[in-house]
Amino acid sequence: MNLFELSGRVAIVTGGNGGIGLGMAQGLATAGASIVVAARNREKSESAVAALAACGVQSMFVPLDVGDPESCRRVVADTVDRFGRLDILVNNAGMSIRKPPETYALEEWQSVLNVNLTGTFVCCQAAHGAMKAAGGGKIINIGSMMSIFGAAYAAAYSASKGAVVQLTRSLATAWAGDNIQVNAVLPGWIDTELTQEARRQVSGLHERILRRTPAGRWGRPEDLAGIAAFLASPASDFVTGAAIPVDGGFSVEF
Ligand code: NDP
Repeated sequence: MNLFELSGRVAIVTGGNGGIGLGMAQGLATAGASIVVAARNREKSESAVAALAACGVQSMFVPLDVGDPESCRRVVADTVDRFGRLDILVNNAGMSIRKPPETYALEEWQSVLNVNLTGTFVCCQAAHGAMKAAGGGKIINIGSMMSIFGAAYAAAYSASKGAVVQLTRSLATAWAGDNIQVNAVLPGWIDTELTQEARRQVSGLHERILRRTPAGRWGRPEDLAGIAAFLASPASDFVTGAAIPVDGGFSVEF
């Protein structure tokens, strides 16, 4: 048996049209999985689908607003309609609103929690039945360094990403008997649209991260491809409830 083989497996990657989501989708596609790119931006999603198809796998775009529970359920149903099964779910869609906590409007707080936490939960819940029917499955939730650390400008984001880790642990224990492994990946600082915006909004961030990261560089989306393939494959069948940093050492240096 090839421990990392994903041929015949079907994956949904939320926010899979760019950044970390596309990096992870490429890891899964390289191992042979069919990929559903689930996001809002059609143009970006269609070019991601074309890039994934170039790896020799089947890929399709399904529109998703992860803040809308009905939309989450529809993505799972459309995937099972098209491919007949669902084996892998990567809950990657996420966003942040950066400002001091005392200035948050309640709607702003709720929108971050809704996309990053509630959307992840609803997608997991929607996927559970299909994975159980397939004899098992793999769920990969995306946390952050903010699952571990706090930041003055990111109270809602940190709260949501800390909660994603606790949700991961609870789902891992609840669904272990269904042969569904649920793990979280905690990316360090990765160069994407999200962090380009952060660098514009938080002065000195770029240099601070470079100084603070033992690997001496920002991460790239492709740095997440390997962990996605590992956590989606039989190689990780006894790994569940873990929260694995992929951070160039950011979280371990004093
Ligand atoms: P990007 O901004 O490049 O990607 C975010 C993705 O989420 C986009 O593909 C976007 O697609 C999708 N998305 C956002 N809101 C929604 C929504 N309501 N419904 C569906 N899709 C949505 O950022 P990253 O690649 O950096 O971020 C990906 C994940 O990684 C996020 O969860 C982020 O918190 C996390 N992360 C990022 C780090 C980094 O350093 N970059 C570090 C730690 C964690 P579309 O616009 O088409 O909807």
